[in-house]
Amino acid sequence: MRIFTAALATETNTFSPICIDKRAFEASLYAPPGAHPETPTLCTAPITVGRQVAAEKGWQLIEGTAAWADPAGLVNRQTYEDLRDEIVDQLRAALPVDAVVLGLHGAMVADGYEDTEGDLLARIREIIGPDVLLCAELDPHSHLTDKRVAAADFFVFFKEFPHTDFVDRAKDLWRIAVDTLEGRVKPVMSVFDCRMIDVFPTSREPMRSFVDKLMQIEKDDADVLSLSVVHGFMAGDVPEMGTKMIAVTDGNREKGQALASALGLELFAKRGTYRMPEIDERRAVAEAIAATAGPVVIADMWDNPGGGTAGDATVVLEELLASGVADAAIGTIWDPMAVQICMAAGEGAEIPLRFGAKSAPGTGSPIDGTVRVIKLVRNAEMRFGESFAPFGDAAHICYRGIDIILNSTRAQSFDPSLFSVMGIDPRSKKILVIKSTNHFFASFSKIASKILYCSAGTPYPNDPAKTPYRRARRDIWPIIADPHTPKRGAA
Ligand SMILES: [Zn+2]
Repeated sequence: MRIFTAALATETNTFSPICIDKRAFEASLYAPPGAHPETPTLCTAPITVGRQVAAEKGWQLIEGTAAWADPAGLVNRQTYEDLRDEIVDQLRAALPVDAVVLGLHGAMVADGYEDTEGDLLARIREIIGPDVLLCAELDPHSHLTDKRVAAADFFVFFKEFPHTDFVDRAKDLWRIAVDTLEGRVKPVMSVFDCRMIDVFPTSREPMRSFVDKLMQIEKDDADVLSLSVVHGFMAGDVPEMGTKMIAVTDGNREKGQALASALGLELFAKRGTYRMPEIDERRAVAEAIAATAGPVVIADMWDNPGGGTAGDATVVLEELLASGVADAAIGTIWDPMAVQICMAAGEGAEIPLRFGAKSAPGTGSPIDGTVRVIKLVRNAEMRFGESFAPFGDAAHICYRGIDIILNSTRAQSFDPSLFSVMGIDPRSKKILVIKSTNHFFASFSKIASKILYCSAGTPYPNDPAKTPYRRARRDIWPIIADPHTPKRGAA
């Protein structure tokens, strides 16, 4: 067997001012054929798992380009077209192949392309013809368009959020691909439109039990090859935004459709109960002050660069200043210009500085004041599980008693080590303000006396009922209350 594999992925928050070009891919991951490292990033596990499968089977794996950019705003048109054409040309050169196995994200939007993955999959289908297997692993924060479903044989999405299972799901993808190529199964994909958009952390109920149930069905029912919840991505203002349920069965479309519908309606029935409880900045700061022990972690959960925002909001900082809090540290506020000024001033300098809130409305106002530069680190990194996450040249400044880390590479706050590398002992602070929605929890919960999920300002379109969508459909909850009941008098 000859199998072609490649990856092209990013998550586009169409409301974000941070646009993406080729350099952004190069900064995160750009690997020409054969240059992909041994360990995968979020959307490239089909390549690394594919290497193992090909080695075991004695099959030939032809690697195309793998490219991943950290979540941000719109992708430059030329950048997308160049990367797409690069992969499509590599595939053409590799023909004939028996299968194409891709790593995608599913929420990439480029200038002029609202459905980049649909565009790529349709072009690939045209090249390989109707009989060659085409499948992909995707992130559930995806838009599942009809064009994609028509082009591919089947999809497998990550089940967990945080996405701890991207390697396991790539193994599912390959297992089904191998079984198909060896003639044991015939995958068909059935989709149910849940007509909703929500946030579904699997680290808490009710989503935990729902995902466990999906895995139990996969185990118990031989007809069911894979079940996926496509959570949808509410920060992508595209026509087919929303939550979908997928059932991949062994040739049993009717059963798949019934199962996808039943599970999708079950998911819909619990709408509005999946998200963690959120409080505003006023209440978060008051509760943190009232706590008897520290550190209280305030997660500025929607100014999360992992969701494509700039990560430069000052709303929580302004509330700390207004409350007269001094025993607090903030990690981080993205401001490359301010970092450059601090670098020029040097450690120990006391300087006038404007920092933060420069990128977008709804993120507070820039802070103006005299700050002391405490510590400067070039190419700073924090721990992230087994590896490290860079946050660029960084400055630890002190302003009115509050320790603040300014950084120059956008990064969400994965780990308390982001404070220690900048000379701040996170355990010694009463209050820690961080920028992350969910991924911070595993590491920060080990040192926190309390965790507060704070929705401050409007850096991210986190309330679909109020988001000023221009392109997204309007026939979904919570934009309308009951999308599954047909309107009286409707045809
Ligand atoms: Zn995701």
